[in-house]
Amino acid sequence: MAEKAPATKRARKAPSTCAGQAAPVAKAVRAKARAKAPKIPYAPDEVAEIFRRFAVQRPHPTSELEHVNTFTLLVAVVLSAQMTDAGVNRATRALFARASTPEAMAALGEDEIREAIKSIGFFRTKAKNVQRLSEILRDRHGGEVPRDRASLEALPGVGRKTANVILNTAFGEETLAVDTHILRIGNRIKIAPGKTPEAVEDGFLKIIPDGFLRHAHHWLILHGRFVCKARKPDCEVCIIADLCRADEKWCDTAAPLVALPDAPPGPQPLPPGAKRPGG
Ligand code: SF4
Repeated sequence: MAEKAPATKRARKAPSTCAGQAAPVAKAVRAKARAKAPKIPYAPDEVAEIFRRFAVQRPHPTSELEHVNTFTLLVAVVLSAQMTDAGVNRATRALFARASTPEAMAALGEDEIREAIKSIGFFRTKAKNVQRLSEILRDRHGGEVPRDRASLEALPGVGRKTANVILNTAFGEETLAVDTHILRIGNRIKIAPGKTPEAVEDGFLKIIPDGFLRHAHHWLILHGRFVCKARKPDCEVCIIADLCRADEKWCDTAAPLVALPDAPPGPQPLPPGAKRPGG
């Protein structure tokens, strides 16, 4: 993965409230959003309502990449470029059972890492990156994953998107990592249009009301993965169908808003030291 971008200060600090509690968006916040927002076919109240529904549907969304700590989350995200989460999980179960710290991963060595992840695209380059970033974390960061963007983006294979995922998922910061699903949704429903991930990220950061940004990344990814799919969106089960302005929309009625389990479908992170059957 060769995504490199200059560090900026677009990420906001973590809020004291969780998204689910932030439903009544303050008037001042709405006014600020309105003043800064780009021209989109949604009023600030409609944007807030969209994210309020996402918050009710998934109060505590999390990554579908299996991991046991921040380091293994970082490795999983580095491996996930051009790959599905399920494909990454199949490879990392055995790998993380053998090495779940920078020290252990560095000791495992590039050849062993490459062998463990050979089912993953670009596995040679990714093995080299994982080996090298493990050594850097061991030698320069005391075996810890750094919490600042510049240090993260200085690691091999780590660009803006990966740094955003780590800052958001591991450290609770209000960042938005734009992947293929978020890029598609931003443009399809015209809520944060842009040709590049950076433009779409900027658009979302300008319009998402305070209190919702902490989980917006996962809400949008899961919405894109399971409902607003690339080939044909499942508008009849979409909770924002009545608000959506997508040209492809084929159903105007919002699906009933029900809370989903906190955890996404599929295998969950392994507890420290645990090993899956067959792993
Ligand atoms: S109504 Fe259809 S196009 Fe609009 S967000 Fe929902 S699934 Fe996507």
